[in-house]
Amino acid sequence: MERLGYREVRTPYVEATPLFVRTIGSSTDVVEKEMFSFSHRDEPLTLRPEATAGIARAYVEHKVHNSEPVSRWYYLGPMFRAERPQRGRYRQFSQVGAECFGDAGPGCDAEMIDALVAFLGDIGIASPEVFVNSIGSSDTRARYKQALVAKLEPVKDKLSEDSQRRLVTNPLRVLDSKNPVDLELVQDVPSVLDFLGNEDRAHWDGLRRHLDALGTPYQVDPKLVRGLDYYGRTLFEIKGAYDKLGAGSTLIGGGRYDGMVAELGGPAVPAIGFAAGTERLLIASELGSETSVVDVVVAPIGEGAVDAALVLGRDARRAGIRCEVDTRDASIKARLRRANALGARIALLIGDRELAEGVAVLKDLAGHAQETIARANVITRVADLLATPAPAPATMPGATQAASAASERAP
Ligand code: AMP
Repeated sequence: MERLGYREVRTPYVEATPLFVRTIGSSTDVVEKEMFSFSHRDEPLTLRPEATAGIARAYVEHKVHNSEPVSRWYYLGPMFRAERPQRGRYRQFSQVGAECFGDAGPGCDAEMIDALVAFLGDIGIASPEVFVNSIGSSDTRARYKQALVAKLEPVKDKLSEDSQRRLVTNPLRVLDSKNPVDLELVQDVPSVLDFLGNEDRAHWDGLRRHLDALGTPYQVDPKLVRGLDYYGRTLFEIKGAYDKLGAGSTLIGGGRYDGMVAELGGPAVPAIGFAAGTERLLIASELGSETSVVDVVVAPIGEGAVDAALVLGRDARRAGIRCEVDTRDASIKARLRRANALGARIALLIGDRELAEGVAVLKDLAGHAQETIARANVITRVADLLATPAPAPATMPGATQAASAASERAP
């Protein structure tokens, strides 16, 4: 996100309930069924089910539009929805997302989608599928809703109870139903894309042109409406890793919400954002499978060496080296096992003899080599070693002997 010029924003986990009702929409699943709401001294509050509403609230409250024409903000943190927990769906989950305020152009939308596809590639999610749609501005949606209702009215009685209700309160939501009978019935409803007004169409054409120029593969899905009411024009979803997540799981969802800032009392500032489920990214990707937690483990052998080990650990971290000091009262063997489990390249051992002589034993765990170095020079030597690639595994009898000699000195 920082490479794209986004800065981190942090907003509260709790916001006033009406904020979500107003922006997400009263007839959405999130507001109707999924919010953890409570009342505190007669004030209705809600654990945020998503971050966009709170961020837009903060944007308006602090009149950010006065100080910068475009604001690019990213966030990362917990969201709360009362859903039935299952793989990839939790009641407290984490999202990473971003909002861009102040740029109405479809170039902004295309860049966001393209960057997300690249990001998924970087974390090992191959060939994600991008679905895009435009639901136009409010005029377009008003005309489309009429056509949708006219089409579904005759089969109304066959729709699920939720969809029957939504056909009256919020017809677009019917397209979002997961009910198999509803899905069948909406099969050949008119396409919203046929209802786009001139400006909406120019925006939609622009989006596809920019995506083509970037070489970002996408599929047009005119039934994509997404579960939050605040969207207009561009909508997108990115899916993938079906083998790990199942077909229904969306990795990333996003879209344009040009009306929200004005709705919250600010000026007419266009905006677009996305949110990705962090847990789903972890399940779907190779993230978290890296084995190296630290570069170096420092192991004092005996109480007397702990001070020197702590100093060495701190000096290593000051030099930018990831380092754990293992102060347990354990055998050398157990500490080396720990160092290997942490994926450390180097173990530094300090026993009574090393303490007295002002040295440390440096074990290169990748090369199975061992040397004794003056403690004042240890950090420089460690940094040098870390800068060179680990040698291919080889058995060095000398090193094994030295290690067992060291073990014998263990307390
Ligand atoms: P949404 O805010 O509904 O557009 O969701 C954006 C993304 O957040 C989804 O594509 C998921 O990756 C993730 N997400 C939404 N709800 C949950 C949940 N209950 N548990 C885990 N991830 C979720």
